[in-house]
Amino acid sequence: MEPTERVRVVVRGAVQGVGFRPFVYRLATRHGLSGWVLNSAAGVFIEVEGPPDHLRTFVLDLERDRPPRAVIQSLEWAVLDPVGYDRFEIRPSVGGETTALVLPDIATCPDCVRELFDRTDRRFRYPFANCTNCGPRYSIILALPYDRPSTTMAGFAMCEACRAEYTNPEDRRFHAQPNACPACGPQLETWTPDGRVLAGADQALAEAARVVRGGGIVALKGLGGFQLVTDARSAEAVHRLRDVKRREQKPFALMFPTLESIAEQCDVSDAEARLLTSPESPIVLLGRRTGTGANAVSAEAAPGNPTLGVMLPYTPLHHLLLADLGFPVVATSGNVADEPICTDERESLTRLRGMADLFLVHDRPIARHVDDSIVRVVLDRELVLRRARGFAPLPVPIDPSADGTLAVGAHLKNTVAVAIGGNGFVSQHIGDLETREAFAAFERVIAAFGGLYRFEPRRIACDAHPDYLSSVYARSAGKPIVEVQHHLAHVLSCMADNALSAPVLGVSWDGTGLGTDGTIWGGEFLRVTREGAARVACLRPFRLPGGDAAVREPRRSALGVLFAIDGGAVFDREHLAPVAAWTPAERRALRSSLESAVNAPWTSSAGRLFDAAAALANLRQSIRFEGQAAMELEFALDRIETDDAYLVTVRDRVPGTGGGDGSLGRPLIVDWEPLVRSLIADVQQKVPRGVVAARFHNGLVEAIVEVARRVGEPRVVLTGGCFQNRYLTERAVRRLGEAGFRTYWHQRVPPNDGGIALGQLAAVAWKIGILDSRQSTVDSRWSG
Ligand SMILES: [Zn+2]
Ligand SMILES: [Zn+2]
Repeated sequence: MEPTERVRVVVRGAVQGVGFRPFVYRLATRHGLSGWVLNSAAGVFIEVEGPPDHLRTFVLDLERDRPPRAVIQSLEWAVLDPVGYDRFEIRPSVGGETTALVLPDIATCPDCVRELFDRTDRRFRYPFANCTNCGPRYSIILALPYDRPSTTMAGFAMCEACRAEYTNPEDRRFHAQPNACPACGPQLETWTPDGRVLAGADQALAEAARVVRGGGIVALKGLGGFQLVTDARSAEAVHRLRDVKRREQKPFALMFPTLESIAEQCDVSDAEARLLTSPESPIVLLGRRTGTGANAVSAEAAPGNPTLGVMLPYTPLHHLLLADLGFPVVATSGNVADEPICTDERESLTRLRGMADLFLVHDRPIARHVDDSIVRVVLDRELVLRRARGFAPLPVPIDPSADGTLAVGAHLKNTVAVAIGGNGFVSQHIGDLETREAFAAFERVIAAFGGLYRFEPRRIACDAHPDYLSSVYARSAGKPIVEVQHHLAHVLSCMADNALSAPVLGVSWDGTGLGTDGTIWGGEFLRVTREGAARVACLRPFRLPGGDAAVREPRRSALGVLFAIDGGAVFDREHLAPVAAWTPAERRALRSSLESAVNAPWTSSAGRLFDAAAALANLRQSIRFEGQAAMELEFALDRIETDDAYLVTVRDRVPGTGGGDGSLGRPLIVDWEPLVRSLIADVQQKVPRGVVAARFHNGLVEAIVEVARRVGEPRVVLTGGCFQNRYLTERAVRRLGEAGFRTYWHQRVPPNDGGIALGQLAAVAWKIGILDSRQSTVDSRWSG
């Protein structure tokens, strides 16, 4: 018999009183699914159970075949364990609080798009058209309840025609708070870089299109902030954008005019097409096709990357511009490096100075920055990698015992979350708390959450790392604080995402997080029970010469790995790329740092092991953006199919050391030494890099399966930034499944540090911390 899954769907929008529930009933019955549907003040909730294929089709049909008057503003779904429904039923409606729900921004609906290009319509080519079913929400709301005076539209008085629509219950714009038209609403302008007005309305749009067509860069004030737009086909234009944005190699997001134009250059599955055209309209990571043609995207847009991050127009402004251009553009966030996206047109003139040839702006204020979300389809499910526009601030259910908690997240890819009434409201992506601007944005988001939800935290949950600015903030707020270990927060976040309770084995792999023993963790296996979490296994630790500097230089991780297994002699092996990458003087300094253990902290980080492998395979010795080396190791796999795996041994202790074993409370050691030795031998024998990369990934997956066997917990949770890697995730899920384990990974909340805030809420809800620190003490005998 086929395995059964359960899918939970939450649909929000004009779906009540339009025959939606009977439609869901018929659809579920037709697909042979059991479960239920119910109406509530917070939306229509659906749970269906059945074979995975039927569930996928059900979700697609739900949107495609919906009743004519039903409009979906948001559809979120997640795959969960089945509970054994025996039939499908319509359950009685439940009431409840609606006012607390802030909807995300919604991509322009088909009706509004039609009017936009209809010469006879009074909103013909009006860039701020919207209706009850689409348009800005979260990016314009200042306070609840959601009424025009408490949005940034307050300053625009509706004309008679707009007011008539707004007050007519039969009209599509009945109570559409941002309702506007050319006569009364926001207006477009183009500005020179020094703020001089060049043109307005349609002329401004024509001006912007002309600049993009000529290879220039336009700073466009969009929905949740500025975007920098340039011709994606032109290597020169894209290269210039890289220069001004100081972004050397990190892939740029692209906007295409139509789904058809995307399909010319990328493989698009049904699930991916649904996402691209959904109310959320996120950036979707798609496999790039080798095909060329007149509209081919320049290699500069995503150098060496077999995927493209692609989206469709999601505001009338984008629809108009892309229709005028007819070719794909880069549409990257308007900011310098990793600062938060710029939202104000006056401010943009200074913050984006020297970056754009033309500013395309408007006078509808943006209440808060909201970046474009990023989603990847993994194993036929959606995996949100950056949760912002279209998703934020929709809640994830969390046990009500966490109510009153503010979680402030980690340091990189920061988000914050609050727990209210059994809901975990996760903020939009804020960014790396590296700059003054980012920290200011972090404080603004917290203040805005407090204002919107009238929320005053009773306690604050933060990372256990004392130096993260988010932790510093938590300590200075004068409230009780709960410190949550980083990798445990990842595991709990993934459990909450999958509505899973303990016990589980959490595989928490990422770049960096502070462990309970004061070392840098990142290749962790945590068994989580109702009593707490224990570190049952970890990657064999090694020293990182230069500490934090190793994040930017994979060759340092490689030296740390080599030193751990062969000692100082490795510095003479010039045939190894990460050794040859240094001058003799630098090598002496690094060697003495490792030998004297000065500025060379211990780490068990999987991310750094990926870096070491990338350096040893001579893919990359230093990086230009976070995670680049690991990404390139994944890309090297392109279309390689092999089950060969380097050996990784799971031991009771580090070789050559005495001491305990797993049963006595020390973590098992996942020893990568044989893997590294085989990898070096393969590289020397010129084995193709794709094969090397595959054997490396496969070896680590076998190690995960072996640890799972030794621990014996039937349910395994995969989390942490490393599981953004599709090959690693898919293979781990498959191999764990073959070994009889049930495996879970992220869906709505990112596996990277963007998911930490939710995990911190879960730690408070379930009162789970790391048990027994004696299990995780690194001792000096581990120096190899
Ligand atoms: Zn609309
Ligand atoms: Zn009007």
